[in-house]
Amino acid sequence: DSKELVWVCELVREVVELYKNSFEKKKIQFRLQAKDESVFLWANKDQLEQVFINLLQNALEAVEEGGSIDVIVSKKEEKVMIEVKDSGRGISPEVRDKIFTPFFTTKKNGTGLGLFISKRIVENHEGKIYFSSDEGKGTIFIVEFPMRETTV
Ligand code: ADP
Ligand code: MG
Repeated sequence: DSKELVWVCELVREVVELYKNSFEKKKIQFRLQAKDESVFLWANKDQLEQVFINLLQNALEAVEEGGSIDVIVSKKEEKVMIEVKDSGRGISPEVRDKIFTPFFTTKKNGTGLGLFISKRIVENHEGKIYFSSDEGKGTIFIVEFPMRETTV
């Protein structure tokens, strides 16, 4: 598990690029807000990419046609925050404590592994992943990493 200096805004832009066509097809209003350009993490780039692929994939699957997805990168106090916000169906209260469990899915063809893997990766980088959701209105997943040690 090799780590390198990762420019967070660039990494997020690269992942977003992979989703451009899917967003267009579903007429999703996508916004990338990279408030703090100079955010770097000492991280495994492939693993970090996987986290944002998983979160964007879930957002894409949660929104209706014409919905919106926002990605916000910012620096807050001693933390790097990356937020993925969607205007999708939300997560029902009954399943909120299960979504990070391996193989838990509410989708017909879901694997239920995306969030489980993402959480492991984030925690391997001394970070945290959590969410807030409003049924019928949308969901926001927040990934945060400490600036200390992992950041140069
Ligand atoms: P999968 O996508 O294969 O179902 P995940 O681990 O990525 O597996 O997600 C687990 C479950 O969490 C999903 O099946 C879904 O019920 C819920 N979920 C995750 N992200 C979102 C989201 N952005 N909006 C609504 N539900 C979500
Ligand atoms: Mg998923």
